[in-house]
Amino acid sequence: RVQGRPVVMAAPKADSHAAFSETLALEHALHEALDREQFFLLYQPQMDLRAGRIVGVESLLRWRHPTLGLVPPSRFIPLLENLGLISAVGQWVLEEACRQSCRWTQAGIDLRVGINLSPQQFLDAAMFERILETIQRVGARPASIELEITESLAMQDPASAIGLLGRLRNAEIKIAIDDFGIGHSSLEYLLRFPIDTIKIDQAFVRNITRVQADRAIVRAVTAIGQTLGLSIIAEGVETLRQCDFVEALGVTEIQGYLIGKPMEPALIAALYADFIRP
Ligand code: C2E
Ligand code: CA
Ligand code: CA
Ligand code: CA
Repeated sequence: RVQGRPVVMAAPKADSHAAFSETLALEHALHEALDREQFFLLYQPQMDLRAGRIVGVESLLRWRHPTLGLVPPSRFIPLLENLGLISAVGQWVLEEACRQSCRWTQAGIDLRVGINLSPQQFLDAAMFERILETIQRVGARPASIELEITESLAMQDPASAIGLLGRLRNAEIKIAIDDFGIGHSSLEYLLRFPIDTIKIDQAFVRNITRVQADRAIVRAVTAIGQTLGLSIIAEGVETLRQCDFVEALGVTEIQGYLIGKPMEPALIAALYADFIRP
């Protein structure tokens, strides 16, 4: 019954029979999605506010099913995690993003490429070797690759996270803490984590022009980030006013629809060239 019907944008009520059979159909289709090359990556630009240039991108996974169409990540990534498929798909994402990073480097386009890591990938004991091996085999520059991990993940086992992040960092791979501010924020731990970038969750940016508490949080995070010499990216910046506000609070980079939606690599190259022109 799911066939031929456009996939719903949000997960329907979990208790309905239709939702259950749709989830089953998606799960079934996900088992074949990798082999059938139904996944692809889009890249969302990140602009350095001081320089006024695109300095990085975040790779974002997309799944196009032949009949269901484009299924949103909020719908299929939890399923991949439940099915134990996220590590295999995550490995494909890593390789594909590294290949794209190489192409940009060869074209003289200097971009940091962000790659999302799921908790399952991060907690895998062989992860460090696999990431390093992939970067080397593909020929990407480790310093151009930034792994995005969520703070809740890092906090699950802070001691081993610190060790692992330290090894990645010694290999010159960059680390970003994603969705910062919504999880188990602990400044004490943040200070101990060897990271390069904090990504402020879009929940704090959305109402930044109206909600003083959100401004206070963003100001506090940027102050610490500055002290530690980190890049601070505000996510979900959609308007010029939001941009002005986060800039005034000390944010160094923005990512959001104001600069561009997730897009094809060729469009990133065009945007990069446009912005870099003095
Ligand atoms: P995320 O890592 O927090 O990624 C940012 C999300 O915010 C993306 O949603 C992006 O399209 C969206 N976004 C960016 N700018 C704006 C804006 O100005 N306004 C609004 N309303 N939204 C904006 P997307 O692509 O749907 O991805 C959703 C989530 O799926 C990601 O959240 C991430 O947690 C996960 N995800 C995406 N790709 C991957 C991947 O390759 N691996 C893993 N493990 N997870 C991924
Ligand atoms: Ca992310
Ligand atoms: Ca995020
Ligand atoms: Ca998120």
